[in-house]
Amino acid sequence: MKCIFCQIVSGEMSGDILLRNEHICAFRDIHPAAPKHVLIVPNKHIASTEELSNNDRDVAAELLLAVKEVSKLEGISETGYRIISNCGSHGRQEVKHLHIHVLGGAPMRNGLG
Ligand code: AMP
Repeated sequence: MKCIFCQIVSGEMSGDILLRNEHICAFRDIHPAAPKHVLIVPNKHIASTEELSNNDRDVAAELLLAVKEVSKLEGISETGYRIISNCGSHGRQEVKHLHIHVLGGAPMRNGLG
């Protein structure tokens, strides 16, 4: 079966899309873990940070720059937020398409584990 995030990027599956450009797409997480929870994904299928190559410099930069745009759109640029990208089994990555979680709208719990 085709990757669900590829399907959201292509429009085959609906998503609550906030932002998109040539390189990335940002949409709200279907099971929000915070009052504001957005996922930013590359349009191209890249499984995780481990699969990024030197040819992906543009998309890697766009992913990070999109965080700032998302934070403005979600009204959390001043209060702050947390970004997370899970990778592999120890990182508990469920969807094997690289994504950055942007979490905000309330103070995050202490700790990172
Ligand atoms: P991860 O554990 O980092 O792979 O996180 C995957 C995230 O994708 C989870 O927070 C899910 O709630 C979210 N998710 C799964 N399916 C969808 C979907 N169709 N639309 C939006 N978010 C989704």
